Amino acid sequence: MIFARRRYRADNYVYLLAAEDDAALVDPGDPEVALALAAAHGVRPRWILHTHGHPDHAGGSARVAAALGAEVLGHGGDARWYAPDVDLAGRDALALGRLRLRVHGAPGHTPGSVLLEWEGRLLTGDTLFWAGCGNCRSGGEPARLARTFLEVIAPLDGALEIHPGHDYAVPNLAFALGLEPGNAAARTRLAEVEVAHRAGAEPAPSTLARERAVNPFLRLDAPGVAAAVARAAPDEPDAVARFVALRALRDRA
Ligand SMILES: [Zn+2]
Repeated sequence: MIFARRRYRADNYVYLLAAEDDAALVDPGDPEVALALAAAHGVRPRWILHTHGHPDHAGGSARVAAALGAEVLGHGGDARWYAPDVDLAGRDALALGRLRLRVHGAPGHTPGSVLLEWEGRLLTGDTLFWAGCGNCRSGGEPARLARTFLEVIAPLDGALEIHPGHDYAVPNLAFALGLEPGNAAARTRLAEVEVAHRAGAEPAPSTLARERAVNPFLRLDAPGVAAAVARAAPDEPDAVARFVALRALRDRA
C-alpha cells in the first residue's frame, strides 16, 4: 500500500494512492509533479480523482490522463470547470481495482466538492483545511459549506487523518489563535508546522480529532469563537448562520 503526497505551486498538494498495481492520483493540478510522484513510486495510475473542479487542482488532469491513459472521476456539479469521464454525483463508494474508497458529497467551496476517504485518511480538497475551511469566492456558497461541516463532517470518525488540497496551516492557525489565544492545542500545532516548514519538510497530517481541538469552523461553541461570532451576528441561534458569520470574519482577516 502506498500513500504519498507532493507539494506543487506554493501550497497545493497532489496525492497518490496505490494498492499493488492499482493506483490513483488525486488532484494532479501540476501534470509534471503528478507524473513524477507516480514514477517515484513505480506505479502507473489508471485513475485520476478530483476533490473539486478548480483549475489549480484539476487543470493538469487532461495532460495526466493522456499521458497515462487514465480515467478521470469527479463530481458533475463542477462541470463549469472540467468534464470528468465518470460523474461521482450520488456515489458514496468506489471500487477501483483493489482501491476501495468512500465518497462524501461536500458542497459549499464548490457545488461539486467531495471528500474522499481511503484507509483511514480523508482527502478534503478545499473543503476542510488544517485549522480552517475553504472560501466560497469562486462558485461557492457559505450556507452549503456550513451544512457540509454540520451534517457531513461532524459525524465522521475523529481518527481519520486529514489531507487537504492546500497547506494554509500557518495563516489559519493565526486566525484561530486570534479567536482563542489560550488554545494550547492550536499553539502546539502551529509550532509543529513551523518546525516542519523551517526544515523544508512537510507538516504531519492532523486528524479530525485534532482539527476539532484547533479549527474554529469545528468549534462554533468554543467560548472565544462563539464570542467573535456573537459580535458579528448578535443573538443568532442558528448554527448555519453562525458558521456563515465566521466564514465572513475569516474572509476579512
Ligand atoms: Zn478550490
